[in-house]
Amino acid sequence: MSNRAAPGQVQTVLGPVAPGDLGFTLPHEHTKCSLWWIENRWDYWELIGDEPRINEELAAFKALGGGTLVDVTPIGIGRDLARLARLSQATGLHIVAGAGWYRQAYYPAEARIDRRSIDDLADEIVQEFVDGPVRPGIIGEIGTDKPWVTAQEERVFRAAARAALRTGASVTTHAVQSDVGLAQLTILEDEGLDPARIVIGHCDSHPRIEHWREIVRRGAHVEADFLGMSFTPLERAGEPKVVELISTLLNEGFEKQILLSQDVCHDSQLASYGGNGYTYLQKSFLPRLVGAGVNVATIETITVENPARLLTLRKPA
Ligand SMILES: [Zn+2]
Repeated sequence: MSNRAAPGQVQTVLGPVAPGDLGFTLPHEHTKCSLWWIENRWDYWELIGDEPRINEELAAFKALGGGTLVDVTPIGIGRDLARLARLSQATGLHIVAGAGWYRQAYYPAEARIDRRSIDDLADEIVQEFVDGPVRPGIIGEIGTDKPWVTAQEERVFRAAARAALRTGASVTTHAVQSDVGLAQLTILEDEGLDPARIVIGHCDSHPRIEHWREIVRRGAHVEADFLGMSFTPLERAGEPKVVELISTLLNEGFEKQILLSQDVCHDSQLASYGGNGYTYLQKSFLPRLVGAGVNVATIETITVENPARLLTLRKPA
């Protein structure tokens, strides 16, 4: 269906795109996501993702200047590459799809994560990047359930790093409420992946300057991607702290290592159900950053240039 992207290009679900064409980008979102499918999760957590509704929500993002959405839904919680191609066609937005497996509790039995070699897992990811017909363009979100990395999760992280080296793609992670993102980073680095190709996700769930600073000092990216969420007390009341941490890192010169997103992953976040939809950055958060003294050029770096650089495929190692 679509051509494969070459190094220097971005691999979207409709084929190669020049990095300069992506525009304003949300680097960590979902358009369909089912977390209650696993055993022993009884909260029916789901972004059902019916297409006419999602098309409308994405149209609102585009109308405010949105250009690209990265759907980091991994295998096993509702990823459907053909569906993402349809959404891209319907909305005119560039959509980049994720790859790999989420976190241990969510690994589908049929993936046999604990029975295959790390290279065999990496082969499966690489195959998707190469063979299509609809191809992913980033690896992730891959993650850890707890403040530690389980043995199976370590295997997935090693496979992701190897696949990243072989495809030239970046890796984006799920790391919550702890400094486990640093352990993730260590495994990826151990496999030889350049930290400049790594995004530690959900850093706003662990709003400590020491943690954020350590990630950027090691050369990786901090991503505040729970912006506009209101499920937990921290999310409801924590935004001033996130603004403060971003401002601190900006003052220290790390503007090229910050990413922002909204992680829409539940129906209640959609505008049609009274949530912020996909427009919280544009409508609320970015104006707040400007109010805190961040200049418009820096916001352009964070929301356009940084995601474009990460999504641009490197020459395979
Ligand atoms: Zn997510």
